[in-house]
Amino acid sequence: MRPLIATINLDNLRHNFRYLKQQHKNKLYAVVKADAYGHGAIPCSTALQNDADGLAVAFLDEAIELRKNGIKLPIVLLEGVFEFAEYEICDKLNISCVVQNQTQLEWLLNYQWKNKTQVWLKLDTGMRRAGFFPADYEKAFHVLSQFTPINDIVKMTHFACADDLSSAMTQQQIQTFDETTQNLIGKSSIANSAAILAHPTTHRDIGRAGIALYGVSPFEENNKLANQLKPVMTLTTKVFGERILRKGESVGYGSIFRAEKDMRLGLIACGYADGYPRVPSNNNPILIDGEPSRIVGRVSMDMMTIELKLQQQGIGSTVELWGENILVADIARRCGTISYEVLCHLKRAIRQYKNSI
Ligand SMILES: *Cc1c(COP(=O)(O)O)cnc(C)c1O
Repeated sequence: MRPLIATINLDNLRHNFRYLKQQHKNKLYAVVKADAYGHGAIPCSTALQNDADGLAVAFLDEAIELRKNGIKLPIVLLEGVFEFAEYEICDKLNISCVVQNQTQLEWLLNYQWKNKTQVWLKLDTGMRRAGFFPADYEKAFHVLSQFTPINDIVKMTHFACADDLSSAMTQQQIQTFDETTQNLIGKSSIANSAAILAHPTTHRDIGRAGIALYGVSPFEENNKLANQLKPVMTLTTKVFGERILRKGESVGYGSIFRAEKDMRLGLIACGYADGYPRVPSNNNPILIDGEPSRIVGRVSMDMMTIELKLQQQGIGSTVELWGENILVADIARRCGTISYEVLCHLKRAIRQYKNSI
């Protein structure tokens, strides 16, 4: 068996959920889109069944998979539907939809609903990606509230810069949201992970926690509240080859690393086809049997080379690529990306679940 293993600690997932809920105080949905940010949507949703107030996914197929696997929690589709026919499945499986534009709204009004349904009506407060403009929002809200199959409208919006504490954008978005929705009766949902942790005025009826749920800080800077989160995924592999690299020799594609003195190299099973970022990974930190070391040379498709520092390290040694000790946010930053992307790109690793129930 190839030893690339993503260990998913479900106790840490539950810890993070409870901690975030304690911060947010009101209801909290777990965002499990993109296969729970690479952690496995079904096991993670199952582990949160007794804690989460609901689940959020991006689109219908992700929700169907959860229902097929016995998940009974409320589910909302954050992108809404892509075609009219999807509403029939939402109706049958009790799945709520975000409605973010006129087309989605008209389809919803034209469909013959068999059950009462909840709708999340999205307001564009500044992201300029999706959602009704403030000038059109009240009208859409009133049309929906007069449509009998709708029994609940959640007013929602999404922040562009909640993770940037120096940005004035979040305050402006909150103000736009409050001005537009103040006379419209119903629940609100505006906070993502960063807002839950850093912007208490965004704590409304329903929060939506993604990245922080997986134990990853949404902030670049050190953040006291985010320090309470526990990493859920630890990605480990093993050394399966070793050799000496002589002074002056280079290793790997492009020969970007050259040995300054004789050194021992280890070969490990993980490459960019598994989702480890290819560039610039030379020098990225790793842990070999608990001891700090680094990647040397370019990451290949299926493997990479590392520096063996201690005599007892070699074939069979365990290497942590990210997780409880090596923060995935640090790896992402070094590779010019964000932890969301690194986690979502994980492939081919065997997922093992710790602390199932
Ligand atoms: C993905 C997503 C979230 C979760 O964001 P995090 O930053 O991961 O907490 C919340 N709301 C919407 C609309 C999203 O698309």
